[in-house]
Amino acid sequence: MAEDKRYDIVIVGAGPGGLCAGLYAARANRKVVALEKYLPGGQIAITGEVEDYLGFEHIEGAELGMKFTNHAKKFGLEIEMEEVLEVYCDGEDRVAKCASGNIYRGKAIILSTGGSPVKLNVPGEKELSGKGVSYCAICDGAFFKDQVIAVIGGGDAAVEEGTFLTKYGSKVYIIHRRDKLRAQKIIQQRAFDNKKIEFIWDSVVETINGETRVANLTLNNVKTGNKSNLDVGAVFIFVGFKPNTWMIKEDIRLDSGGYIVTNDHMETSIKGIYACGDVRSQLVRQVTNAVGDGTTAAVAAEKYLEQLEDKHAHRI
Ligand code: NAP
Repeated sequence: MAEDKRYDIVIVGAGPGGLCAGLYAARANRKVVALEKYLPGGQIAITGEVEDYLGFEHIEGAELGMKFTNHAKKFGLEIEMEEVLEVYCDGEDRVAKCASGNIYRGKAIILSTGGSPVKLNVPGEKELSGKGVSYCAICDGAFFKDQVIAVIGGGDAAVEEGTFLTKYGSKVYIIHRRDKLRAQKIIQQRAFDNKKIEFIWDSVVETINGETRVANLTLNNVKTGNKSNLDVGAVFIFVGFKPNTWMIKEDIRLDSGGYIVTNDHMETSIKGIYACGDVRSQLVRQVTNAVGDGTTAAVAAEKYLEQLEDKHAHRI
C-alpha cells in the first residue's frame, strides 16, 4: 500500500551530487532520503574508467559509485529505489511523488536528477535501439567484441567512451560533425594515439540501417555533401545530455538550455528547492563539481530548515 513518508530533506537522484548532499545532511543529524530509480552512483556507475577525481588516479566508475554510496549510507543516508514522477510544493512541504504511489515529504528537496542522453533522431535509431544502437559503452560494449564500432559525437563522453570501446571492438570510428573535437585535450590525445581509432570528420549520420541488427550507417559529409555507407556492428551515440527536469511541477527558473538556475547556495527560484550536479546551470559538468554542489546544497538546506524551525519556535 502506498505510503506518505516524512523526512527533513528529500534528495531526488543518487548520483555523486545527491549522495554527497545526503552525506552532509545526515552528518547534520537530519533525517534524509535519496530516491533513485536505477543504481546509486548515477552516471558514474555506468562510466568505464575515472581518472580525474582527485585522490583516484584510476578507478572503475562502478567502484567509485559504490564507494560514494557506502560512504553516504554509513553516515545515515537512506536510499530508496523509487522513480520520482512529480516534485511540487504543498504549503511548507516539498514533496516527491513516486511511480510506486509513495509520497516523500521534506521541508527541503535537493534535485540531483542529472540528464538523459540526447537522441540523434535519425531513421533506424529507435527501431534498432538495443539491437546495436546504444547510449552506454560499459553496459553494452562487451556485446561487440571483435566487431567494428561507430561512436557519434566529439565531446568528452564520445571520445572517452570511444577509447574505452577499443577494449572490445576490432576498430572504432569516431564520427564527428565538425573537424575539431570539443573533448578535453588529454582525452583527445589518448584517442589520437590509439591505433584502433579512426576519426571521420565533418560527417553526420543520416540513417542507421539493418533488418534485425545494425548493419551499416549512411553518412553525409557536411562540407562536400558526399554520402557514404559504413559497415558497423554497433553505434554508440554520445551527442550530449538533456537535463532531467520534467518531474518538477512548479514554475522553476531554467536557463536557455533547460538547466536549473541556482544561486551560489544551490537554491533554485523556489524556496526550499535546491539543485546540484549535471542538472544545474553551470559551465562544467564533472564529478568534482557535482560533489561540491551537493555539499553546498545540503549545508544551505540545513540553514533553511533551521530558519523555519526558528520561525515556528517564535510563533509558539
Ligand atoms: P557535450 O559536451 O555536449 O558534447 C556533445 C557532442 O556531440 C559535441 O561534440 C557535439 O558537436 C555533438 N553533437 C551534438 N548534437 C549532435 C547531433 N545532432 N549530431 C551529431 N553530433 C552532435 O556532451 P557529452 O560529451 O555527453 O558531455 C556532457 C557533459 O558531461 C560535459 O559537460 C562533459 O564535459 C561532461 N563529461 C565529462 C567527462 C570527463 O570529464 N571525463 C566524461 C563525460 C562527460 P559540437 O562539438 O559540434 O557541438
